[in-house]
Amino acid sequence: MPLLRALLDGGLDDPEAVRIGDTAFSGPELLGAAAVVADEIVERADPDSPVAVHATASAETVVAVVGCLLAGAPVVPVPPDSGAAERGHVLSDSGATTWVGEKPRDVALPARRVDLSRRAGHEVREKPGDGPALILYTSGTTGSPKGVLLSADAMAAGLDGLADAWAWTDADTLAHGLPLFHVHGLVLGVFGALRLGSRLVHTGRPTPENYARAVTAHGGSLLFGVPTVWSRIADDPSSAAALADARLLVSGSAPLPVPVFERIRDLTGQAPVERYGMSETMITLAVRADGERRAGWVGVPVEGVEARLRAVDEDDTGESVATDSEVPADGESIGELQVRGACLFDGYLGRPEATAETWTDDGWFRTGDAAVVDAGSYHRIVGRRSVDLIKSGGYRIGAGEVETALLAYAGISEAAVVGEPDDDLGQRIVAHVVCPDGPVDPQAVMDFVGERLSKHKRPREVVVTDELPRNAMGKVQKARLRRS
Ligand code: ATP
Ligand code: MG
Repeated sequence: MPLLRALLDGGLDDPEAVRIGDTAFSGPELLGAAAVVADEIVERADPDSPVAVHATASAETVVAVVGCLLAGAPVVPVPPDSGAAERGHVLSDSGATTWVGEKPRDVALPARRVDLSRRAGHEVREKPGDGPALILYTSGTTGSPKGVLLSADAMAAGLDGLADAWAWTDADTLAHGLPLFHVHGLVLGVFGALRLGSRLVHTGRPTPENYARAVTAHGGSLLFGVPTVWSRIADDPSSAAALADARLLVSGSAPLPVPVFERIRDLTGQAPVERYGMSETMITLAVRADGERRAGWVGVPVEGVEARLRAVDEDDTGESVATDSEVPADGESIGELQVRGACLFDGYLGRPEATAETWTDDGWFRTGDAAVVDAGSYHRIVGRRSVDLIKSGGYRIGAGEVETALLAYAGISEAAVVGEPDDDLGQRIVAHVVCPDGPVDPQAVMDFVGERLSKHKRPREVVVTDELPRNAMGKVQKARLRRS
């Protein structure tokens, strides 16, 4: 089950098969350049130990990553725009002994370095598909980034599930402008095209104009974006209108706010489809291309994945934990989402305890996310079990529901809700909001939410801020919003 099947089978022979910014190449050209990297790794380094790639959004990164895969060396994509501390963490935690590609200035690099400028003949080394192929660092939304070990077989299984869900074929042109060091941009957004044989257009920066050009100039049919990308497109009607010719607009990595879903639908004539996944699991839930597009819902388990919801309770320390009881599929009851299937990771690098904790006794992966499911197996993600389930006055409240209500208030463009310790309530709801048109009246906002939802879901405090702290994928870093 080679991960890059279409590329290795000699497909993608169009000279525009892979376009990244201003650089375009055919599949055979990519394979030739990548094989040189592979040869160098095999000759000069230990192909069984991890190889770090400075993962800029560039053709060099794609060549380097494919080269590592051909050599059978586990690839560690290093985020280029993160600080020296994060890069240092990724390098030391992964134990990478070789570095490929462009060199950042501020980190100590492994001694061996592979020069990308050489071009020559090649030989492809096939390695078993169940060994570690990619070490992907999580976004670090809830703590320091963890190295996720993904095999080629798991990634291939996950991509085949998406091909089924979205009728994704070699007739598609996949377009996106996402970073190449997370599952979204790299695995779905590059390996997906190289496995399924669709053309790939990486737009460089993920601006609305670049997404529009990817469709009008390069025939983009399948578009991937994170919610901040869709939100910017929703604010740019002429770029949005250019997306009308695309086949499928896909959002993921964080919740897509309902107003953004609605604006994209109105401006492009088609509602976006949302999907849910993690570095550890690939994509497990997705709205199918022919499925119902319901704002705020992430769809059904993809082919080969099983999903279940387990009721959440508190342990002795007050921490919320999943129990063994199933949550009813009534579209309202909240439980921890647990999944299993061939697309799951093999563990966290060097963290046996963290790895063991993520599996239930009967072999399901605990996502740590809270969700609801309806009778048609449609799922809605409520948020992270540890951060987004607020226990206030005896009620368990999902932060996402309060955020959705806040976004319906005129003048609020972004919202993030956290629970702060409270002597009386246990936790009290604090809303952080961005108001581009000037300040809003906090009391009016609290009353609005209290009337729209119910009294106990009403924020006790509204903090107006210029921007929310977000990481490279546009995810809100709630730990940085909490004051205690
Ligand atoms: P860390 O594990 O280091 O705290 P992270 O969980 O953000 O970081 P990723 O693996 O990149 O790292 O992201 C997975 C998480 O993203 C999921 O657990 C979920 O909380 C969130 N997510 C992904 N897709 C969606 C979606 N469509 N709706 C809501 N949340 C989503
Ligand atoms: Mg995570």
